[in-house]
Amino acid sequence: MKYETIIGLEIHVQLKTKSKMFCSCPNEAEPSEPNKNVCPVCLGHPGVLPTINKQAVELTIMTGQALHCQIPTESKFDRKNYFYPDLPKGYQISQYDQPLCGEGYLEVEIGGEMKKVRLERIHLEEDAGKLLHPTGANYSLVDYNRASTPLMEIVTKPDLRSPEEARIFLQQLRQILRYIGVSNADMEKGQLRCDANISLRPVGVEELLPKTELKNMNSFKAVEQALKYEVSRQAEVLDAGQKLHQATRGWNESLGESVEQRTKEGEADYRYFPDPDLPPLSFTKEQLKKIKTKLPELPEARQRRLVEQFGLSSDEASLLVSERTVGEFFEQVISEAREWIKSFEGKDEVLTSEAQKVIKQTYNWITSPLFKLLNKEGITLDECKITPENFAELMAMIEQGKVNSSAAEKVLAVMFAKGSDPLQVVDEMDLGQIGNKGELNEIIKKVIEDNPNPVSDIKAGKESALQFLVGQAMKETKGKADPQIVQELFKEKIK
Ligand SMILES: [Zn+2]
Repeated sequence: MKYETIIGLEIHVQLKTKSKMFCSCPNEAEPSEPNKNVCPVCLGHPGVLPTINKQAVELTIMTGQALHCQIPTESKFDRKNYFYPDLPKGYQISQYDQPLCGEGYLEVEIGGEMKKVRLERIHLEEDAGKLLHPTGANYSLVDYNRASTPLMEIVTKPDLRSPEEARIFLQQLRQILRYIGVSNADMEKGQLRCDANISLRPVGVEELLPKTELKNMNSFKAVEQALKYEVSRQAEVLDAGQKLHQATRGWNESLGESVEQRTKEGEADYRYFPDPDLPPLSFTKEQLKKIKTKLPELPEARQRRLVEQFGLSSDEASLLVSERTVGEFFEQVISEAREWIKSFEGKDEVLTSEAQKVIKQTYNWITSPLFKLLNKEGITLDECKITPENFAELMAMIEQGKVNSSAAEKVLAVMFAKGSDPLQVVDEMDLGQIGNKGELNEIIKKVIEDNPNPVSDIKAGKESALQFLVGQAMKETKGKADPQIVQELFKEKIK
């Protein structure tokens, strides 16, 4: 039988705040020791009073604004009651019927077409601690560093129709979260955690069949694989004429399969009620507007602008907006290079071919040699020592023929390692290009004298011999000549 796949996601995002959600303990990404950042409030001692973290509330509202959500002027926190050893209070402070953000959407490109994935809500809650199970031990350890750190939950409507769509949606969502700076959203580090609700139904049937909630997927690949596995598992059950039941299943990456964990509690089991220790929140329109001004330009808008303003293709622009810092770096380099690209001011002006060339060159040097260095070291651009000023200077030196591209790659590597100024590196390493034709002519004369056979080959029309002579000349100059010019000079001399 043919089935339609229905997927909805619940995404938990660790917010990048200074302190925890309801106390002043630091919210550190990677604390140096267990139970370092704890106090009576986040340990849930009796009689303590929580206070709401304003920054966490603002970051959640900003996320809602970036995702076209309705932002109500009233909101509140509720207690979600359940017992688990990583939850010291015996309840989690969350939001039930009045989340900070209501319905919204994110448009994602799937197979060349834009698809609107609707969001149900975004709410703010506190995270739980972590249980550690030492291998071989008959006990478990608990670490409360993460307990009560701010956690934002984004819930989509069941609008996704395939595992691949779910992965693409999640990747685009992460890009936005990083752009607006609310979270580092690294899945491997648990800063972005995704649960997926998935069910199949025979094509043409309206009603939804019991769904599976999938957990424990800690990479984009795992999300897609776990969902694919579940699609075939559910199809097999239905094909065999059996019934599905609602359940939670954990993804086991090494086995490549999901395992049923428990049948899910209903909402009634959590006995939600408004937290009596926390005042309800209310916002004026002005306050919400003020928060909105903190949003940076979003990736989609920046991509469009890069295409219009710099004449890049949509694919090129998309690579530059993959991370906020990459686009910023590119624009800063171009702006530094404004002096030698005098021709563009404002997007309506047509770019001269020279300006186009410089833009392309900058694009190529960022996305190829620089990206390669970053990947090799496993760091991001904002951790890199090269400043936009120095990068622009190197671009100018290439453009003006002061270094050739193979020398420039060596210079870039030194700049990358030490953060040095390119001009200084060129001097120190003696990499400056020999642009002086007099000096080059001497070398070319010598190469011709030393290689009579290839010279006669060229005269007989054998083009490959020319490359050999160019190679010899490059060797003589220790790679400091412009191979293009050398080739032209040979052609002039050997006729
Ligand atoms: Zn605390």
